[in-house]
Amino acid sequence: MATHAHTDDGLPAYRVTEIPDGLATKTMLARQRRRPAPGQPAAGILFYHGNKHTPLYTIADSQAMPALPPGRQAAWTAARTCARCAATNDTPYREIENGRRVCVDCVVTERAAAVWPSWLRLRAAAVGWARDVLIDPDTVLLAAYRLTHWDGPIHVHAATVGGRVLVDVVARSRYDSLWRRPLGPAGSVNADDLVPLLMPLVGRRMVHTIRSSRGHYVDHLTPLGELSTLSQRWDGEPSLRDPSIRQSVEDAFAPRWTDWHARPYQYGPHQRPSYGRFGLRAVDVDGGDAAEVTAAMRAGLARMALDDHPDGPATCPWLPETGRTACGSPDVGTAGLCPAHRPGDAG
Ligand SMILES: [Zn+2]
Ligand SMILES: [Zn+2]
Repeated sequence: MATHAHTDDGLPAYRVTEIPDGLATKTMLARQRRRPAPGQPAAGILFYHGNKHTPLYTIADSQAMPALPPGRQAAWTAARTCARCAATNDTPYREIENGRRVCVDCVVTERAAAVWPSWLRLRAAAVGWARDVLIDPDTVLLAAYRLTHWDGPIHVHAATVGGRVLVDVVARSRYDSLWRRPLGPAGSVNADDLVPLLMPLVGRRMVHTIRSSRGHYVDHLTPLGELSTLSQRWDGEPSLRDPSIRQSVEDAFAPRWTDWHARPYQYGPHQRPSYGRFGLRAVDVDGGDAAEVTAAMRAGLARMALDDHPDGPATCPWLPETGRTACGSPDVGTAGLCPAHRPGDAG
């Protein structure tokens, strides 16, 4: 249908995006508590959803609907007024999970405020963890870095937080040659023969992570788990089963970094921030090989221990009933809220 086509009645026809200022359908008039005057003729026809159509009326010639009873008027207004910032809308705001009707901006604000105290608690816990890790200069940073494909060579680098290198080797599967792939780089070691090289790790606390050259997220894997897999592929018997070399889930670097670094994540300049928790995506800890990953871990631990956060110091995220300004008190401690706003302490 061409713009400004006319119907059989001689009325101009419009699509939804073409409605001129000053014209409205009955539904649009009702949003303003107006309706067509008795006998008011249509001034145009709106076509929508293909072949559906409805008359358009001149708003200036329409009449106001009778006033609502006071109670209903209050409810009508309340449903169209943001409970937080008092913005108004033609149609009612949707009620969100906390029972309030708020505008789209305030949905983000309210949801972020609701989760922020628990994020700050995780952040404080990560700071405490990093300080604890750094107390002992012999604590080991262990990184595995997948150089190529899923069962290809893995670079292993381990150094103390003090900077002493303990392990620096590329491990490969001895089965690589059966698949006619090139073996690992010159100097690489069959994963079956790794155990003696890992002996400097025995009995040490290890902060660990595994990254991939292809940028895959491999946070669910561990360095020693992958090396063990590399050594046992197809013969079923892992040879890296020394219980004296241990990784603790508590000391996995990536989740701690996310705990510390997490904030709402903005996907793009024109998109609203997500209120999900993101960390690693915002700061590069991937590195180009395992040695760069241990260096990134060392730098990350130092920042965590100082709580040198990109968003600045933690502040109390508690929001009053209205307005968009949070409490902001710097006294959040490990509770994620200032003393005045902690549950049970309020009042
Ligand atoms: Zn609002
Ligand atoms: Zn507060």
